[in-house]
Amino acid sequence: MPPLTPERLAGLVAPAARRGTLLLSSDFDGTLAPICPDPMGATILPRAAAALCHLATRTPVAILSGRDVTTLARLAPIPGARLSGSYGLERWRDGVLEVAPEAVGRARQLPGIVAALEATIAKGPAGVALERKRWSAAVHFRPAADPLAAAAMLRPALAALAVTTGWSLVGGRMVYELQPPGPRSKGTELRALLSETRARAAVYAGDDLGDIPAFAALTVAVERLELALPVAVLGAETPPELVPAAGGRTLPSPEAWAETLQLLAAAVP
Ligand SMILES: [Mg+2]
Repeated sequence: MPPLTPERLAGLVAPAARRGTLLLSSDFDGTLAPICPDPMGATILPRAAAALCHLATRTPVAILSGRDVTTLARLAPIPGARLSGSYGLERWRDGVLEVAPEAVGRARQLPGIVAALEATIAKGPAGVALERKRWSAAVHFRPAADPLAAAAMLRPALAALAVTTGWSLVGGRMVYELQPPGPRSKGTELRALLSETRARAAVYAGDDLGDIPAFAALTVAVERLELALPVAVLGAETPPELVPAAGGRTLPSPEAWAETLQLLAAAVP
């Protein structure tokens, strides 16, 4: 396969985007926004935001993130975009927030889990940060002096907490998250988006382990779509599983994905 470039990728999906039958979908952190040492400081690349604002008027646009959907809506203010947060536990559609029943059903456990995580983090290396989300809680290792060592040190305690609470421990780059158990993932979200938009073609760009189920959903859908393109967006911390899961399709950086979106917006006036 020739290497993917922004020009080539935009050219591949432009015909479907012009017909309004392209599902243009993307992860947020590390894909639309460069990775930032402070997760709260992530910012969408301006030209990606401008391109998505235009493209969302022409074809379905979706952003799928591990962040909770209210934060995602603030960080990615794209009118008309379909937002999925907390790995599919929450959706934002036409101004309405939908929450998965398993998240609501497990909400009473969350304060106890947060307290246990705070106690665990207090015993670990400095810099590890707790992100309390609406329906789940994430532990970020990137701010620690040695993130991988910090993750290795705390992982057994987090896994034990998952077992005692019945919650799921999900890993990303430099982050572990405790989530209500259930079938949701970016893969289930992508399948739902393909169905609700009746897209005939789809592209999904992502950079982390949580994006692999979305890549898989596209790979499975390839037989009934005109075009299905999972794209791995590379960075300093790309997990080794990512590129094969995207069928070898890569872009070198969030900036290259933003350039793709900009070229696509120009091709779909
Ligand atoms: Mg990401």
